[in-house]
Amino acid sequence: MAENTKIEWAHHTFNPWIGCTKVGPGCDGCYAKDLAEARLGVMWGPGAPRRHTAASTWKQPRAWNNRAAKLGIRYRVFCASLADVFDNEVPAEWRAELFQLIRETPHLDWLLVTKRIGNTAKMAEAAGGLPENVWLGITVVNQAEAGRDIPKLLAVDVRIRFLSIEPMLGPIDLTEVSDDSTALDPECWGDCACDSLYGRDAGCRRNGGDGHLQRKIDWVIVGGESGPKARPMHPDWARSLRDQCEAAGVPFLFKQWGEWEAALDRERQDPDWRADYTNDYVDRGKSRWLNLAGGCGFHGERFHVMRRVGKKSAGRLLDGVQHDGVPA
Ligand code: SF4
Repeated sequence: MAENTKIEWAHHTFNPWIGCTKVGPGCDGCYAKDLAEARLGVMWGPGAPRRHTAASTWKQPRAWNNRAAKLGIRYRVFCASLADVFDNEVPAEWRAELFQLIRETPHLDWLLVTKRIGNTAKMAEAAGGLPENVWLGITVVNQAEAGRDIPKLLAVDVRIRFLSIEPMLGPIDLTEVSDDSTALDPECWGDCACDSLYGRDAGCRRNGGDGHLQRKIDWVIVGGESGPKARPMHPDWARSLRDQCEAAGVPFLFKQWGEWEAALDRERQDPDWRADYTNDYVDRGKSRWLNLAGGCGFHGERFHVMRRVGKKSAGRLLDGVQHDGVPA
């Protein structure tokens, strides 16, 4: 799929500028910070100047756009892998320049992923409005962030809304996240079961209407963490999102396990689990028991041991299946 990017869900990557500030637990192992500081000389954090990229970099999307037009296809462009488009410390005129470029490349779908969804509406308006060919995504890493940020994403007018749940650091139930209908619509009775995956519930007494209550998440991307300090992702967290998406008919893409693979995933009653664990994992110092809350230890009737094997070896199969769902 990728043309000039290793990212599984995009054809191209474009960085309009470089630099950012960490804002939450999903930023702990920010690869962009390490790369930018070590190799590009761009420092991270509040007050550190962001660096606008070169004119030659800004020419690339126009070439991709021309090629897509000639081939009669669309390319997905991941915008700002080394920054956040809605960072407060980026000059407003840079964002206006970016949005103008996005408008002038209509054969590209621009994937903007932010950890600052609260800034989006105001900053987009200041930049002339979100262009029609933007897909807007947010990164959430646990249920608390999902509950806090998904309603804000659903409130934004945009064609495709998606979640980048990477690094996944805890269980997430998207059907528990409301679209905050009562806040968005004073006429909502607030006693039905609209949620972020299904949009308006079929039983809603105002069903049949139109407007923002129909908004829902259109795409879910899930991945474990990579890098030297990577934290393991419990297999049941990823399975649960896969199953939630399948039930709701929402495209699901499993990007990677990250550094850790599920090495032991057994019923408590399995007579061989202890022998397997001792023989294969206990001496290596690279394994970790993981419970459903993300901490060490047992839970319920199953045992899970995650083993650090490196991103490449861990791969991107979930229960033997590669998930590459993308919105049509
Ligand atoms: S928002 Fe993204 S680029 Fe910025 S510090 Fe966090 S992980 Fe890094």
